[in-house]
Amino acid sequence: MHATNILAEADRLMTVCNSCRYCEGLCAVFPAMEMRRDFQDGDLNYLANLCHSCGACYHDCQFSPPHEFNVNVPKVLAQVRADSYAAYAWPRAFSGMFARNGLAITIAASLSVAVFIAGFVGWTDPAVLFSAQSGMGSFYRLMPHNTMALIFGAAFLYAIVAMSMGVRAFWKDIGEPAGTLVEGPSIWQAMKDASTLRYLDGGGVGCMNEGERPTDNRRLYHHFTFYGFMLCFAATSVATLYHYLLGREAPYPWYDLPVLLGTAGGIGLLIGPVGLLLAKTKRDPDVQDQARLGMDVAFLAMLFMTSLTGLALLVLRTTPAMGLLLALHLGVVFGLFITMPYGKFVHGIYRFLSLVRYAKEKRMLEEGAAA
Ligand code: SF4
Ligand code: SF4
Repeated sequence: MHATNILAEADRLMTVCNSCRYCEGLCAVFPAMEMRRDFQDGDLNYLANLCHSCGACYHDCQFSPPHEFNVNVPKVLAQVRADSYAAYAWPRAFSGMFARNGLAITIAASLSVAVFIAGFVGWTDPAVLFSAQSGMGSFYRLMPHNTMALIFGAAFLYAIVAMSMGVRAFWKDIGEPAGTLVEGPSIWQAMKDASTLRYLDGGGVGCMNEGERPTDNRRLYHHFTFYGFMLCFAATSVATLYHYLLGREAPYPWYDLPVLLGTAGGIGLLIGPVGLLLAKTKRDPDVQDQARLGMDVAFLAMLFMTSLTGLALLVLRTTPAMGLLLALHLGVVFGLFITMPYGKFVHGIYRFLSLVRYAKEKRMLEEGAAA
């Protein structure tokens, strides 16, 4: 018995695929499947999060519709995957945010932006808010640094705690011991696979699109997005060190490290999300979980807006527009932080953890064969 109908359908497909095994060279899902004889809910959630949704196994399958076996692995695993995000959400009361995720994130982000703008307008001297500011510490004339650090530190901490609880639930569900999380070789292999998006290549030809024309665009734009995000994170970390260790307050000159990292990351976060959205329009709708498209779009839009407002703030920081742009940027970033545990962001975490488990299983199998 499975907890949901879609898990029961995934079980049926994995049983068919386990007899067929034609797709075993395409990605990690099929070799991981072959290590099992039956599929509990935790196994299916693990396999679903291991799938990178390239679509290759649908287009290669002799049993895909209109065949009566109706095998559509990418779509069913995408549905299982999305359900798993809600199942692992913490606190459980917020798992409903995944049901209408696009709407929930839009409301949360809009409220966050509105509160920051209202806060700036209400609590800041209008002469400061609407006049040009320059020099070290000009941002903090609108909001004291300690207040900013406290608000964002709390939001970030909340996101980390909520996502850690999700990780705990996922790890327990798939039945993996906690020790695997500190196994160096498995983590190193997973980092290599995740950083190159090894399994998003459709077995070497790229992601399948409408008309069965594979391309590597999704992998490329994922890289822009992921590395853009990491560079922005690095920029914020370096700026924090500047502030607390060197006593140097933002904003920094354009040639300084936080600005260079933030600009490069911001450009990545403009190109990546737009590219992924465009790539989505070219994908075969048959392999997608159409009901969850809002979740993907909301997350990409949040990343894009974070970058756009950040770069606009950089360009216009010495003009009278700085006050409102700062409120807008802080509002979007705050919205991104607090919605992180309840949106598409979590896919990267569960996929990485699945890669860690797969690396361990594969290594154990190889060591067993060699013994
Ligand atoms: S997706 Fe189709 S071709 Fe591939 S292993 Fe499953 S049943 Fe076989
Ligand atoms: S969609 Fe791609 S990654 Fe997912 S199971 Fe099929 S071949 Fe593997």
